[in-house]
Amino acid sequence: IVRIVGLRKSFGDLEVLKSVSLDIYPGQVVVILGRSGSGKSTMLRCINHLEKPSSGAVIVKGEVVGYRVKGDRLHELRPKEIARQRAATGMVFQAFNLFPHLTVLENLLEAPCRVLGRPAGEVREEAMKLLTSVGLAEKADVYPSTLSGGQQQRVAIARALVMKPSVMLFDEPTSALDPELVGEVLEVMKELARSGMTMIVVTHEIGFARAVADEVVFMAEGRVAEQGPPSQVIDNPQTEATKTFLRSLN
Ligand code: ATP
Ligand code: MG
Repeated sequence: IVRIVGLRKSFGDLEVLKSVSLDIYPGQVVVILGRSGSGKSTMLRCINHLEKPSSGAVIVKGEVVGYRVKGDRLHELRPKEIARQRAATGMVFQAFNLFPHLTVLENLLEAPCRVLGRPAGEVREEAMKLLTSVGLAEKADVYPSTLSGGQQQRVAIARALVMKPSVMLFDEPTSALDPELVGEVLEVMKELARSGMTMIVVTHEIGFARAVADEVVFMAEGRVAEQGPPSQVIDNPQTEATKTFLRSLN
């Protein structure tokens, strides 16, 4: 459902991604591990075109993200087309990024109504169902600032889901949370994984990776250094880089 082909990304002289290729199949949960600066966030941001690849491509549901293929040339898509493509990927960040001036429910209605032009009445019902599924139906009419970090992150997940994405991207969704709030967010993510959602998750939560990942990808210095099932990459790592990284977490 997501195909990353020879993806490279540089910022000036700094080459952050040095040819990454990765295939993610429908319903898979892929956990990305790697040290700070290894290019994990940059890769996620390339998947939904928050960053433009320097070369290589990201293909989501058969479409090259950000470009139209004409013969053997790529033509940049217009912002409106990119927004349409982006709707296929829901993103949840480390900082919850909720709109502070909107209530919880209004946060969920914003994108479907503004980007997809859907009537609020119709979206409201779906939004309430999603808030119920993340355990926050009773918070629909409050403002984000009155919620705990864990609650805000669960709202952010519901807000991404209301766009009915085919893939969910998570960039360290629990690393800004107080330890006692991490569990409730991981629980929502586990439930989402069980429901069959395709997920790409950057996290250092090894327990989560062991429990739900179909595939673990270890990145080092802008490349995929090792990938495989958690039983291999986490419990029986094959490269020195992976071993050193896992030791550093304990
Ligand atoms: P972390 O675990 O700290 O989040 P990461 O693996 O997500 O790290 P990236 O955020 O992808 O790493 O960053 C990889 C490298 O690219 C870093 O050296 C970072 O400083 C650099 N970088 C990222 N974004 C930009 C940018 N917009 N301009 C310049 N350099 C950038
Ligand atoms: Mg990052």
